Amino acid sequence: MSEVRVRFAPSPTGFFHIGSARTALFNWLYARKTGGKFVLRIEDTDKERNTPEALQVLLDGMKWLGMDWDEGPEKDGEYGPYFQSQRGEIYDKHLQILRDKGLAYDKEGAVFFKVSDKPQIIEDKVRGRVERTEEKDFVIYRSDGSPVFHFVNVVDDMTMGITHVIRGEDHLSNTSKHTELFKAFGATEPVFAHIPLILKQSGPGKMSKRDKGALIEEYQDKQFLPSAVRNYLCLLGWSPKDDREVMTIDEILEEYDFKGIQKGSAKFDEKKMAFINTEHLRQLPLETFSWMASPVLNEAGLIDEDTDEDYFQKVMMLAQPKVNSLDTLAEYVGYFFDDDFAYDEKVTAKLSKKGNPAEKVAEAKEALEGLENWTEKSVEGAFMKLAEDQGQEKPFPWFPSVRWAVSGAGGGPDLLPLLVVLGKDKVVARFERAIAQN
Ligand code: GLU
Repeated sequence: MSEVRVRFAPSPTGFFHIGSARTALFNWLYARKTGGKFVLRIEDTDKERNTPEALQVLLDGMKWLGMDWDEGPEKDGEYGPYFQSQRGEIYDKHLQILRDKGLAYDKEGAVFFKVSDKPQIIEDKVRGRVERTEEKDFVIYRSDGSPVFHFVNVVDDMTMGITHVIRGEDHLSNTSKHTELFKAFGATEPVFAHIPLILKQSGPGKMSKRDKGALIEEYQDKQFLPSAVRNYLCLLGWSPKDDREVMTIDEILEEYDFKGIQKGSAKFDEKKMAFINTEHLRQLPLETFSWMASPVLNEAGLIDEDTDEDYFQKVMMLAQPKVNSLDTLAEYVGYFFDDDFAYDEKVTAKLSKKGNPAEKVAEAKEALEGLENWTEKSVEGAFMKLAEDQGQEKPFPWFPSVRWAVSGAGGGPDLLPLLVVLGKDKVVARFERAIAQN
């Protein structure tokens, strides 16, 4: 069998829509799965919209998602140029071929392709057998001399040796025009696989670029893990046999095939995306998590080059199993790095309903400040003693006030490890601050 060659053929618009990213990914997966080539071809015939900035958004998004291409911009390849704007001669030559065969003719300034009137049968890998007859000749060159999409798309797929066309279902209705053209050139048609539309989360219709969560840039800005976004994109229209959701790229590659692609539309689900991101965050090695967290906390002004590395690592160890996203990390761990943290007013109010929290904090201070050892065990022991002295079985009644005093918050990492990581000096100082202020 000849080598698989697939392509992603975007028209840069300045946005990288998740639908496009998903199409790119399904092609990339197929190439990586089969050991074939993944070609990036830029369909930049619309001069107004196709700016270098628009191209950059696309290339950055592709790289961020780890979808490396074998041929295309920034890469060599035998089948270039990979920009349609640079392939004018190739198109003109192919127009001549059709003219010579008597399959192209001029009318009212435009060039028309003469259809065969025969039914076009497409054995689509996703949709199954699709039949359609093109009844009318269609334009392949406009009167301004520019070739139209159907023509350039087919000429490129043909001259770039594309074996499989994997693209959005919105192109299914174009495919009979395309097979007409392939046949006219005497070329072998590629295998087609039309992947389902992505519908918006609520309400009818296709996800548009205005819908929340529709652009890859949003996930980049919100510090999502690219591995998680890629995992989620795979699930938009594809699922493995056992319906697993959280998967590494190797597991996906192992399972990926056309059979797993559904016919029906896929629905975007923001919550599932967030869930998968959290799961990927949990599975990172601590070192990687810290490495990713570092610039985020630096940007938030919480750490700098003077921050103690050991302390930073310990905080990360507490945060990784708990925090839901890198985007909320600064909020989650802020008080570890900022002695001047604010007390959450709602938490203060809630605690105050049961008496003055400062009193509980004062009792905890007395119980803990004399400790020589500062370990989870010793701190727990001191709390137990405090409880017993007051005729209680467990020290839990003190915990919310203590947490509030050292963090200002109502939730967070488990309290004992939290106190140990903060260290005795910080804990006692924070007790004093809470007592003085409240
Ligand atoms: N430029 C087209 C698009 O972005 C490519 C269609 C195709 O993959 O054939 O929709």
